[in-house]
Amino acid sequence: RNVLHWFRSKDLRQEDNKALHQASQKAKEGSGSLITMYLHSPKDLEWHGTSPARIDFLLESLRILQKQLEDKHIPLTVVEVPERNQKTEKVLQFVKDNNVSHIYANMEYEVDELRRDITVAKAVQAAQDLSFEVLHDQTAMEPTLLTTNAGGPIQVFTPYHKAWLSETKANPSHYDTVPAPEANDKSTASSLKKLFGSAIPDLPETKNFASKDEQNRLRKLWPPGHEAGMQRLDHFLNKKVSQYAAHRIEPAKDNSSRLSPYFSAGIISVREVLQATQKWNKGAHFDDGDVGVDSWVREIVFREFYRHMMIIKPHGSMNMPQNLKFDFVQWEEDEEGWEKWCEGKTGVPFVDAGMRQLNHEAYMHNRLRMNTASYLRGNLLIDYRRGERYFAEHLVDWDMSNNTNGWEPNYTMFNPITQAEKCDKNGDYIRKWVPELKDVPGKAIFAPYDRLSKEEFQKLGYPEPHVNFDETAQRAKERYKRDLHSA
Ligand code: FAD
Repeated sequence: RNVLHWFRSKDLRQEDNKALHQASQKAKEGSGSLITMYLHSPKDLEWHGTSPARIDFLLESLRILQKQLEDKHIPLTVVEVPERNQKTEKVLQFVKDNNVSHIYANMEYEVDELRRDITVAKAVQAAQDLSFEVLHDQTAMEPTLLTTNAGGPIQVFTPYHKAWLSETKANPSHYDTVPAPEANDKSTASSLKKLFGSAIPDLPETKNFASKDEQNRLRKLWPPGHEAGMQRLDHFLNKKVSQYAAHRIEPAKDNSSRLSPYFSAGIISVREVLQATQKWNKGAHFDDGDVGVDSWVREIVFREFYRHMMIIKPHGSMNMPQNLKFDFVQWEEDEEGWEKWCEGKTGVPFVDAGMRQLNHEAYMHNRLRMNTASYLRGNLLIDYRRGERYFAEHLVDWDMSNNTNGWEPNYTMFNPITQAEKCDKNGDYIRKWVPELKDVPGKAIFAPYDRLSKEEFQKLGYPEPHVNFDETAQRAKERYKRDLHSA
């Protein structure tokens, strides 16, 4: 009988894929073949608001993966799921049609996905002659493994980071990798003919790009597939990482790795990345080598921490803040402010530059994600979940753990003028994304409405600030105080 690996949108690679490897081992023990499957659910994509850029990136990466596997006589079948609640049924049907004895998959930590797996597990249990195994693969450190002295899970980043570093130092096996699956026997696999060459779907109609040129432009910016991701890592290590600590908050330098879409779709494995990084760093651990590397790996640990928190606070994946008190905040309706925020026309150059980068590149620099989120929540007082959704609808790297944690409401309020003065000293990032301001000299670029004469400002064709920063920040603070206290 055959062994099935069930790919999800978080493990689209054959290299160092824990469940795929186990499935391959299992298939070798018996007389059947390794077969693989991916559920394509347009309604799920709609539900999450997934951007065209991300869907296209996933599907193109899937196409590359299918070819790689087929070269090993391993089929990758894409199964369409018309309704969201039909996943279990589709998996079980596939298993039945293809004489499967074992199902393997990598775990997803969001509540809906866990529920789906529980339903499959129950059906499998009832079937008796079938097994279903789900493995941890997304992180180097298994979520919930790092605990406080009292034995509970660590819930604060700094101690988590510290514990992560000491645990990986003592046990580098956390980032041991597993080999890609072995090829199927060609003659046995010939009985699976109907599974080969399964069509990779087109983008759902509602998620199409404005034009073919737009699609091609984004594909160039975000080339699909594992090899492209590893080349990007190589380039980053050799050209950028040493400068990472010094310049990571400066968006004009653009010196981060831009690996986020590859991480979020599991097109590269974090263990492979850590190994390559440590090798580049001449074997030093991530707290006593190149400062750029240490600072970069700290961001990767954030990614690990957020997956760990997703298990500890599962309501994080259910449209609720981790700190539930923030669910009681009374947000405001400001449709004009919302439109301006989305289009990058708030009249605050740093915020507008960030939003325009997002709209154009399906990506935004981390510092701008922080500032645009803070502005929506703290200055427009708009429900942060609308912003979270807008990010999902536009980012190529949308990742529920990272996005919801990034948007988690709190008292921090970034002043986007002083932030720009600190992080974009010469205004180069603003000039790049807000061309109306490209000739504005010196510090006026950070707040043109306040710092230029009325006549000079009017000539720019750039909007006046939609709201006053100090006034709105104060209002938000008072609102939080009022609503959180009464919660
Ligand atoms: P690098 O600086 O090169 O970092 C390497 C990797 O570490 C990233 O690819 C990413 O996987 C991880 N990482 C880096 N910064 C963070 C962070 N702050 N939190 C968690 N992981 C991190 N990241 C996403 O992948 N998807 C999202 O949907 C997402 N939404 C965000 C929303 C907000 C409001 C905020 C403040 C942050 C969000 N982030 C998100 C985190 C971060 O901004 C991006 O991961 C990063 O900008 C991607 O660029 P990079 O790959 O060049 O990162």
